[in-house]
Amino acid sequence: MITKRTKTICIITAILVMTVGILAFIVTRAIGSENDMSKCDNFLSESLKQEISSYGPIVHTIVKAIVENDGKGTTYKELSTFIDTFGNRYAGSENLENAIDYMLNRSIIKNLENVHTEDVPIQTWIRGQESATLLQPRRQNLPMLGLGLSIGTPPEGITAEVLVVTSFDELESRKSEALGKIVLFVPEYISYGKTVIYRSKAASRAAKHGAVAALIRSITPFSIRTPHTGMQSYDANVTKIPVAALTVEDAHMLKRISDRGQKVVVNLKMEAHFGDIKTSRNTIAELRGSEKPEKIVIISGHLDSWDVGQGAMDDGGGAFISWNALVMLKALNLRPRRTIRTILWTAEEVGYVGAKQYYKDHKNETQNWNFIMESDEGTFTPYGLNYVSGNRGACILEEVVKLFAPLNATSSLRSDYVGSDITLWLMDGIPGASLLQRNENYFWFHHSPGDTMDVEDPVSLDKNTALWAATAYILADLKEDFPRN
Ligand SMILES: [Zn+2]
Repeated sequence: MITKRTKTICIITAILVMTVGILAFIVTRAIGSENDMSKCDNFLSESLKQEISSYGPIVHTIVKAIVENDGKGTTYKELSTFIDTFGNRYAGSENLENAIDYMLNRSIIKNLENVHTEDVPIQTWIRGQESATLLQPRRQNLPMLGLGLSIGTPPEGITAEVLVVTSFDELESRKSEALGKIVLFVPEYISYGKTVIYRSKAASRAAKHGAVAALIRSITPFSIRTPHTGMQSYDANVTKIPVAALTVEDAHMLKRISDRGQKVVVNLKMEAHFGDIKTSRNTIAELRGSEKPEKIVIISGHLDSWDVGQGAMDDGGGAFISWNALVMLKALNLRPRRTIRTILWTAEEVGYVGAKQYYKDHKNETQNWNFIMESDEGTFTPYGLNYVSGNRGACILEEVVKLFAPLNATSSLRSDYVGSDITLWLMDGIPGASLLQRNENYFWFHHSPGDTMDVEDPVSLDKNTALWAATAYILADLKEDFPRN
């Protein structure tokens, strides 16, 4: 017989073992295994270590200025003014171009250097009016958002029976039922990275088996009946069919109804279509380097957003910490040896269009790029840096994050992939980083009407601005160039 006391001890022991296990996992993930760290003694000379630690007082100055003194609250103030003035900033809209002009002007007012924009041609996609209506077994409006680059429906819409599946595998096993139907995908949300394939490929997979349209549950772990949009792409050689996201709640309801053997019929209306080719712009500002101005450290985020919500989190916060970090360094008269360049990308949401254009236009210059940073996963409580780099670079960054104790952000995570707009350069072997942060509920709000200023926190914005400014400053000022991967 197990006594109550033994049971309690067992439970406590189990909890302790689990806690220690989880902690050990977090620590090894955060700082790399002990082996990797000890290798840093081979990669870094004592003098380089000393050089890095000599930036401690400068980090202190930056943090104090941004988190406590004059800079306190300025990122939130600048961002909220911007968001309240322009709202969402969809690629191809006049609103986005007005927002870009505004940032150009703010950059000049703040005495940033080499302030300019660079043109980016954009094939526009227009959502138009859209709706989904449940017709059978009862009539109900279903809040929805068409997915990026979807084709539209005829004006009267598409009315068809709905085939509900939970996975691509289930669709394959029931492919004979798909002909002439609207296929609704209701996958379980595992993680954004794992589940987003249902957004990008729903239309193509359903069309392969003769479906007339596709619907998905929104790609989010949490919902208060808000649909989430995002990009999708059609495979070559399949018929293009309209595709849209329903709310999680409505997708679940349709699945339950269908599981009971009842027929589900939906009318889907979408005016979605391609518009003109328009010109947007990447926005650039710099702090020119004092000794090697041709060498560059980049900090970036994207100014455009989806056409729903306010784009405060995606990616207003990321753009504004990148911009205000430069403003604060300039105000503090901290000019590093190399140039720090802030880039506010355009048209990220519609396929990294601004970044791709910049990649093409700046091919000749990138041998001088030392390090590239991007914030596009929210600006929550920072832990440190999430980076892509070679071994020696990793050791340098491990030393750098030690200096962020005043921000409580001394962790780092070495990844294969960080960021979205900066991917092309990372793939070319240029080292880079994004924020390592709490990432609180990012995908609750992402690409939805819920992405508003209320998601942004002034204190976290200050901390991230300081972390961004300090990282960029140190890497742009070190005597030696940051090692390539
Ligand atoms: Zn984004």
